[in-house]
Amino acid sequence: MNDTKIALVTGANKGIGFAIAQGLGAIGFTVAVGARDEARRDEAVARLRAADVDAFGVALDVTSDDSAAAAAATVEQTAGRLDVLVNNAGISGRTDGGAQDPTTLDLDVVRTVLETNVFGVVRVTNAMLPLLHRASSPRIVNMSSNMGSLTLQAGPPIAAYATSKSMLNSVTAQYARRLADTNVMVNAACPGYVATDFTGFNAPRTAEQGAAIAIRLATLPDDGPRGGFFDDEGAVPW
Ligand code: NDP
Repeated sequence: MNDTKIALVTGANKGIGFAIAQGLGAIGFTVAVGARDEARRDEAVARLRAADVDAFGVALDVTSDDSAAAAAATVEQTAGRLDVLVNNAGISGRTDGGAQDPTTLDLDVVRTVLETNVFGVVRVTNAMLPLLHRASSPRIVNMSSNMGSLTLQAGPPIAAYATSKSMLNSVTAQYARRLADTNVMVNAACPGYVATDFTGFNAPRTAEQGAAIAIRLATLPDDGPRGGFFDDEGAVPW
């Protein structure tokens, strides 16, 4: 089997996901660009290849069981295994640009956010685990947010998004417990406040800065942490 490591990044067509793909590519990974829109996916693959990254596109809508299964088949056919899975795709659900007030919350917004930010992670992880188990040092990184921290929360409520990331941190810990006897290491990352479409590009950190912690967790040594939540400064209380 080829020694080149394979990483799948979900939502890799733009923002932090694209920067993670580029960063992993720069250190020698072949990158599977998971993206739901064909044109955006092709454009991202072309941009990565122009930057000398060995990249290929994988059609992946994280809200679809069929799409996750087909994506796993594509990765298997192309690479035969998976070394790194970065569950980066995420949505805020803040369609009106306002806060998500729990006292007036539209439960359909909650369902939509959970479907992507939590169920999408479980769906894609479970589809990819057979391929991860074939790797020598597999890593899973879940892109969370300090807004999901129950101890750090400040400012106005963002009830659907913040709770989705709290749940994602809990899901991360559950996977780490289940996979404790295997070589699959699972951790969650907080990228900081990053200028992307997600924040209207009104944030202090670059996508590359936001990507750094995910890349670090994707390349942890075998004695690294499991089931934790980290940013650039270290462990984040949650
Ligand atoms: P962007 O909005 O720039 O990018 C989000 C990515 O997720 C896009 O590629 C988008 O694809 C993809 N995506 C959304 N839904 C799906 C889906 N159903 N299937 C596949 N892909 C999907 O956001 P960021 O890069 O800023 O955020 C990336 C991650 O980082 C998210 O999980 C976010 O919660 C987290 N985060 C971001 C912070 C920030 O300050 N930006 C802070 C803390 C956490 P498409 O182009 O097709 O919509």
